[in-house]
Amino acid sequence: MVERDIYTLCGIKHFEMKYKILPPHTTLNNSIDFLDSIDEQILPEIHTNVFGWVGKVLSGYMEKYYHNKNSRKEISREPFVDIVEQRIFDLIFDLHEDKGKPIVKHSFWPYGKKFALSLTHDVDEVRKTYQYLTYSLKHLKRRNFKGFKNQIISSFKKLGGKEPFWTFEEIMRIERELGVKSTFFFLNETAKVNLFDMKTWRHYGRRFNIKERKIIDLIETLTLEGWEVGLHGSFFSFKDLEKLANELMILEEILNGKVCGTRQHNLNLSIPETWKYHEKLGITYDTTLGFNNCIGFRWGTSFPFHPLDSESSRTLNLLEIPLVVEDIALFSYEKPWQEFLKIAEKVERFGGVLTLLWHHSVFNDLEFPRWGDMYKKIVKYCLDKDAWVATGCEIAKWWKKRENSGVKVDYGEDEIVIQPFPKDQRHFLDIHTGNGMEVEVKHGAEVVKRGSDKITILTSSDEEVRMVF
Ligand SMILES: [Zn+2]
Repeated sequence: MVERDIYTLCGIKHFEMKYKILPPHTTLNNSIDFLDSIDEQILPEIHTNVFGWVGKVLSGYMEKYYHNKNSRKEISREPFVDIVEQRIFDLIFDLHEDKGKPIVKHSFWPYGKKFALSLTHDVDEVRKTYQYLTYSLKHLKRRNFKGFKNQIISSFKKLGGKEPFWTFEEIMRIERELGVKSTFFFLNETAKVNLFDMKTWRHYGRRFNIKERKIIDLIETLTLEGWEVGLHGSFFSFKDLEKLANELMILEEILNGKVCGTRQHNLNLSIPETWKYHEKLGITYDTTLGFNNCIGFRWGTSFPFHPLDSESSRTLNLLEIPLVVEDIALFSYEKPWQEFLKIAEKVERFGGVLTLLWHHSVFNDLEFPRWGDMYKKIVKYCLDKDAWVATGCEIAKWWKKRENSGVKVDYGEDEIVIQPFPKDQRHFLDIHTGNGMEVEVKHGAEVVKRGSDKITILTSSDEEVRMVF
């Protein structure tokens, strides 16, 4: 038997919460030969203690590989944790003591949707300022004369009263048309600017008064119509609890309610300190864990999870919903759409969350030609592929509710009796049948989806479910 250290316990717990089933002892042993396809060079420890490895990953173990940009790109291509856990689940199916009988688990997403798409926008600035200079210089350097010309047109438009980065009505229109809602994370930057240090100019552009009437009205419109407004912690707040607390307080005053989620500006994170701040401040979820120079799975998973703080030997209350695709990172590839598809197919296969960050400013077609179109294409693609499209808060609330749910299953000769809990709620359950097995609901639920190897049911509240096979 493998030693049950905190990492192993965390890995087992993680699996149990995700699949709602305890992994059998056999899978804890060293005979993890089904992992042969995973590169032993990059991830050696995975073969000796798979749950310990998962636990380590969820405490930041992968970070040591990311100093090198190439290995970062290479490793984050694959959702290793999701791959491994899916294999273990398949293995459990084979080892199931009531072999040949269905396995019941809570569906990952409502209505048995295949995966989730979480739409987010970081509101870094509401006015274009120094970027006229930096964007123009960038275009000239790349001999992109059309881009340069667009900067001149844009500056005339601005003089005529049209603010290039005020794209909120356009985003709302697009999302209404698509029938989806998203999360807007608002920045409240206070970092100091040094005129002689170009790197600090960005703080200037990002300093807007979040309490001005126009912004307050915007936030009100967004929340009234079902969008989520979250906190975009300022540049240095990731290592400054007091600063972060102050920004949270101001936003909650404006919202006249609680903030559910956050993302740190520039994806700045001090692991796990920043998350401990979030936890302390009562924030439900964070979605900072990703890259702004490549796309993919920073900690090998696209599922929400509770980070492990190895120092205090506990998992945090905070839910991390990893960021998978950022617009700027995506457009740094030669073929952005093809790169997106590779990643999206993996999220779809393992049933996780594709968290998308599309800055609001890139919806200006003159400044960022066709970036808005790419956003629409991505959302449509995911809807076609049976994704549940949701705000970060909807994802977090669903996942937490799921964490607190369970089932008791009694197997008869040709019948199963399922008692889901909590009792007074309706539950989406996947009945994994294995190929070819027929199951039928006799009582207490309706079938919402029928696939080749599982069916998804929605239970009636307060009743046990009877199924025959
Ligand atoms: Zn930002």
